Amino acid sequence: MPLTELDTLTALIIIDNELDPLSPPSPDTVQISGLMGTLATQSPHHIDDRGKATREIRMEDICCSAHGLSILVTGTKGEKSHSVLFDAGPEPEIWERNVNRLRADLGSIEVVQLSHWHRDHSGGLTRALELITAAKGDSQSKVPVDLHPSRPDYRGMAIGPHIISLQADPSFAEIEAAGGAVDTHDETHTILDDFFLVSGEIPRQTTYENGLKGGMRFDADEGDWFTDEVIADERFLMCNVKGLVVFTGCSHAGVVNCSRHAVETGDDAPLYAVVGGFHLANSSAVDTERAVRDLQRLDPAVLLPGHCSGWRAKFAIERIMPGSLVPCTVGTRIVF
Ligand SMILES: [Zn+2]
Ligand SMILES: [Zn+2]
Repeated sequence: MPLTELDTLTALIIIDNELDPLSPPSPDTVQISGLMGTLATQSPHHIDDRGKATREIRMEDICCSAHGLSILVTGTKGEKSHSVLFDAGPEPEIWERNVNRLRADLGSIEVVQLSHWHRDHSGGLTRALELITAAKGDSQSKVPVDLHPSRPDYRGMAIGPHIISLQADPSFAEIEAAGGAVDTHDETHTILDDFFLVSGEIPRQTTYENGLKGGMRFDADEGDWFTDEVIADERFLMCNVKGLVVFTGCSHAGVVNCSRHAVETGDDAPLYAVVGGFHLANSSAVDTERAVRDLQRLDPAVLLPGHCSGWRAKFAIERIMPGSLVPCTVGTRIVF
């Protein structure tokens, strides 16, 4: 697959489970802003009534965390720049609140990609499309929304004898009504001058990454729930800057399977970074250790575990690959 080698790549973390505006990252392989220090020095709130203090830092400029993921990814090459919104988090209010606090350039978003059909990634989607359309100031032009065609009527979880349903993902009709142009893909393809690659279904190769335990989908025609632990509709987003940078939604396919497939799809270019959900939060200690060691074999410069990665996986990465862990916390702007 052709993939443009970018000059710069910026990831703006609009939604993540974790908020930490105080900790600077340890490695110097990426630049991070959005921390309390930069918030303070770049604060637009000027003051002249408190002696030598010239700016005020306001708590309402700090983003809020939520269970889900949304990342604005922008690549540049020479004079060209392209932006993709990867997922839209769990609910409309949090997406709107955080993009306002970040003063995100919504008019720059050319494509929205949904990593997979799960409400913690799709819940803010229709509001995001409305706000993107408003920012562009052209209600006639639709925003392409890159989706997997197999949208379950509902997703849920089997917990003991109970089935717990999630809220429905936005329907294709709701996405169109909000200003999106539905564009379904289940195979690998590139978008926007080959700046970005959207994967197809991700091969399951490792023995220890077994999908979402208890995962179910409801089929309205059948009126029944069916086992769906594979979450076959999950797809990653990938760019090439200094090597491959892979954005994973939840990694229900397994973060190692995602990373290996990224390297295979990227013509064996070196893996530079994996950003997003690693889905190790409820993996066993043995499987977490295996996953981190297999990631280490791919030799990424940095890992940015967010969303559903879990604190145990972050500790394991810092222990096994010291210095490679970079926070993927909400409100940060990461320049690769
Ligand atoms: Zn998920
Ligand atoms: Zn998720």
